Amino acid sequence: VGDRADFDSETESVCPFCGVGCQVSVKVKDGRVKYVEGINGPANEGRLCVKGRFGFDYIHHAHRITRPMIRRADAPEKGLNVDPANPWTHFREATWEEALEKAAHGLADLRSFYGGKSVAGFGSAKCTNEEAYLFQKLIRQGFGHNNVDHCTRLCHASSVAALMENVGSGAVTATFNEIDNADLAIVIGANPAENHPVAATFFKQFTKRGGTLVVMDPRGQALKRHARHMLQFRPGTDVALLNAIMNVIVEEKLYDRQYIEGFTEGFFEFREHIRAFTPERMAELCGIDAETIRAVARDYAAADRAMIFWGMGVSQHIHGTDNSRCLISLALLCGQIGRPGTGLHPLRGQNNVQGASDAGLIPQVLPDYQSVTDHEVRELFRHIWGGTEIDAEPGLTVVEIMDRVYRGEIKGMYILGENPAMSDPDVEHARKALATLDHLVVQDIFVTETANFADVILPASAFPEKSGTVTNTNRQVQMARKAVEPPGEAREDWEIIVALANRIGLDWDYDDPREIFDEMKMSMRSLHHITWKRLETESAVTYPSLSNTDPGQSVVFGDGFPRRAGRAKFTPARVTPPAELPDERFPMILITGRQLEHWHTGSMTRRATVLDAVEPEANCSLHPSTLRKLGVEPGGKVRLTTKRGSIEIMARADRAVATDMVFVPFAYVEAAANILTNPALDPYGKIPEFKFSAVKVEAAGEQ
Ligand code: SF4
Repeated sequence: VGDRADFDSETESVCPFCGVGCQVSVKVKDGRVKYVEGINGPANEGRLCVKGRFGFDYIHHAHRITRPMIRRADAPEKGLNVDPANPWTHFREATWEEALEKAAHGLADLRSFYGGKSVAGFGSAKCTNEEAYLFQKLIRQGFGHNNVDHCTRLCHASSVAALMENVGSGAVTATFNEIDNADLAIVIGANPAENHPVAATFFKQFTKRGGTLVVMDPRGQALKRHARHMLQFRPGTDVALLNAIMNVIVEEKLYDRQYIEGFTEGFFEFREHIRAFTPERMAELCGIDAETIRAVARDYAAADRAMIFWGMGVSQHIHGTDNSRCLISLALLCGQIGRPGTGLHPLRGQNNVQGASDAGLIPQVLPDYQSVTDHEVRELFRHIWGGTEIDAEPGLTVVEIMDRVYRGEIKGMYILGENPAMSDPDVEHARKALATLDHLVVQDIFVTETANFADVILPASAFPEKSGTVTNTNRQVQMARKAVEPPGEAREDWEIIVALANRIGLDWDYDDPREIFDEMKMSMRSLHHITWKRLETESAVTYPSLSNTDPGQSVVFGDGFPRRAGRAKFTPARVTPPAELPDERFPMILITGRQLEHWHTGSMTRRATVLDAVEPEANCSLHPSTLRKLGVEPGGKVRLTTKRGSIEIMARADRAVATDMVFVPFAYVEAAANILTNPALDPYGKIPEFKFSAVKVEAAGEQ
């Protein structure tokens, strides 16, 4: 960095990576980001993790797309080009005029010829709220249907489904900072030290001041050292474990009768259901002894104030919605919602996945989770959107869209900032599907794996190159501000969406993200009392905000729920085995996820110098004894094979992984974890089962 005082400008903005939403000050010298430091945002209080501090220089990478690009007429058939030195070999540069015309005409021609449903869209949680809002509006208004989705489908769609069903709202009931007021916290199916590192610092402080931490996860993790109970349960047995804990609370009458009577419905049916799940019966299934289950149940029930945090270990199962239903029921049983230091908190993944979901980038709902099936809701949007009829049929989700593409029913796509050629389960299937598209428009900052399949690539802006609002896991709406100009001819995403919308026949007139935000406020009650001006001066306001001076409510539902009669609901959950169980051919369990240094599909962090230097190579984790059995030294290569495909990858020894398990991060194209994963979906959230596939592990070179 050199002289830290030597910079031309400093701009307050938000970290582009995880859902914690740390506020940063971006120091710029000669038009380039020189360094980034944490400032006193409500979520981070000055702290940053390694990604936030050292992960910013991807924006200056030599492979940034600086001009629009069009697939060359002599390019070979569409496919994945993994030559990292030459990512744009199959494309030629074009003017904006030519690229936008080609992009728009290709989509509009499909609409005319095959109908609007021949085109679908994936938006992005890496864009601002305003951009997410415009993207879903473009698909709904421009093509007349709801087939628009984004990565929430791959992370917390099942959590949101359960929260909407039982609590009446898809967002957290309390900020993670409320752990400061808690006595006990459960962290289940999450690894905050790797995936939400700044939140993890608050969790560690909580234990230092005497708070009781319970960690439940099939994989060990850094927080284990701080936990009173570490329950390393069998993968996929979440419902069995949680029902057994609730069985103890019910049988020992440890529940909060007054709370249940005042604020819930469905308790009596639930109580009968839960009686079968005794700790003794569930112990063998989930691999946790009955006494430990009882101890955790008693500790949770005895706590005055308790919170539950969960991550994708809970959500990414075919029973992900049931897993979340159990967590909601557990909190309701003990009245642990609606007071300081209590609540339910699914730790959101990307920095704006909460905001993009709030803004309607979801196929079943319009902005603020208003159902497309509700006539009054459709009338409201018809009025705001100048007479557009909204389709009453809920749209298709990410994996469903890709299946329709594969079958030739969807022939064109507009993909903004998403990377399904890396992130979808059974990714070879997704890649084959992308290759069949008649017309693919990709808007991104790099030639991602998905952009390899594009007909037109529109050069977009990285996060520090744009202004707009973003919403973190805490429901905090924050102002992101442009610190540097986009390189070359790259443009802010909202400008590109508007230009494309007008070329497919819409009559849009936005000159500034503020105008888009003002339109959003017309339909989104969550933004009441939150104005652009407030965000410019206060930088963050938590929703709901109850007045023009209220910084927002960090805890909600103290006086009832946004459901019928103000009551939350108990929904019983049955034990459902994973879709694919280990057998003789595939005897081990594959779990995929992220790692500290690399973000999702790696498109940004693998182009960040420091992060790539720390973690340059695709890797997986196996227990040392498993490696010994395989005859593989740590650092040697293993081959992983599932029913979908096979990869070879460097193996690390890791005692946090059970002996019959392998963990693979999904950031590495050269050994893409999603070649292996199972596309089976949760029936409610439509989320794939990334957290359980049957796999064969052998030394590389063996057949
Ligand atoms: Fe960025 Fe998340 Fe790290 Fe904060 S914790 S600096 S938001 S990656």
